[in-house]
Amino acid sequence: MKIHEYQSKEIFSRYSIPVTREVVCYSADEVCAATKKLGLPVVVKAQVLTGGRGKAGGVKLARTLDAAREAANQILGMDIKGYTVEKVLVAQGVKFNSEFYVGLTIDRNTKSVILMASREGGVEIEEVAKDNPDAILKFPIDPDLGMTPFLARKIAFALFSDFSLVKQAADLFQKLYKIFLDTDASLVEINPLVLTEEGKLLALDGKMNFDDNALFRQKEINALLEPTEDEIKEIDAKEKGLTYIRLDGSIGCMVNGAGLAMATMDLIKLFGGSPANFLDIGGSSNPQKVIDAMNLLLSDKNVKVVMINIFGGITRCDDVARGLVTALKQMKIDIPIVVRLAGTNSKEGLEILKELNLPEVNTMSDAAKMAISLCS
Ligand code: GDP
Ligand code: MN
Repeated sequence: MKIHEYQSKEIFSRYSIPVTREVVCYSADEVCAATKKLGLPVVVKAQVLTGGRGKAGGVKLARTLDAAREAANQILGMDIKGYTVEKVLVAQGVKFNSEFYVGLTIDRNTKSVILMASREGGVEIEEVAKDNPDAILKFPIDPDLGMTPFLARKIAFALFSDFSLVKQAADLFQKLYKIFLDTDASLVEINPLVLTEEGKLLALDGKMNFDDNALFRQKEINALLEPTEDEIKEIDAKEKGLTYIRLDGSIGCMVNGAGLAMATMDLIKLFGGSPANFLDIGGSSNPQKVIDAMNLLLSDKNVKVVMINIFGGITRCDDVARGLVTALKQMKIDIPIVVRLAGTNSKEGLEILKELNLPEVNTMSDAAKMAISLCS
């Protein structure tokens, strides 16, 4: 889960990390009022749940009230990577001498949280990572020891030589690590962290992502969720006992079990097709669940074929087949459906399915190939 810059900075601020004074605004009038309150210059910044706003023209410095209004009019309603800007952040404009990058994330190689830091922060950080990866320093953090004062100072000395800055930076790193743990974050990033003309470190931008599987115990964070259309569908599916992830292919998949669902997508890919989604309907044979799952699949207009892949273990195939027949008879579906049924009572199940006149497939590979051929 992602949150906006202003929300990340509110969290930073609660841990007494220095951030700019700022106001969230939904209209040009509000931007003007905020500008008067903060004093010129201000920076007007698009609040969208994607990166690279600066490069897309979503961050503008305004030295006059008119310029602030102009910036608001330009940025509000703007499309950035498919996200429409509905709110902007008006932040106190800051003069700074240099921009740094600091980020905490989980590193699977070292099985720990790592802190990444660079003297070359700012909007070009992706290029730095690509062209000059050595400019990004990486420090694994031992999960048992955490961000010790020693480690925090070691990282700080890698970036600064001035003692006052080392002290500020070390303090900041410890706070950031605490935020990371306290909020079950998967990413905490400040880019840029600036060194102001007054010699202070200040977080000019903030970004946080969270582990979705921890949201049940992060009520405050969860309350900040602003789901996209796809995410609304995913949440809706979860409430119906389904696990749905939308992808961009054309074969709608309905599978019992997460492992089999992954294998189904792999197989479709292997034979040259593309899955439209991951969908695990679990072990039940309840027709309502099949109807819900079908509706979910068909709400995606890219779906040209539905591939149903059921392996009966404890679930019995004849039960599932009865559920499928009941569900599919109730619905008007005008695209082809391929069903592969195997496992406990599959013979009986296939007998029941006969009345649907579906294409005959014997194996999972057959089913995938059949679905792909029906796509074109
Ligand atoms: P991003 O492009 O989404 O990462 O947006 P940022 O909030 O990081 O802003 C992009 C860039 O705009 C920063 O790297 C800064 O160089 C610049 N910027 C942002 N705020 C200020 C400010 O208050 N004063 C000045 N002079 N530049 C700013
Ligand atoms: Mn940034």
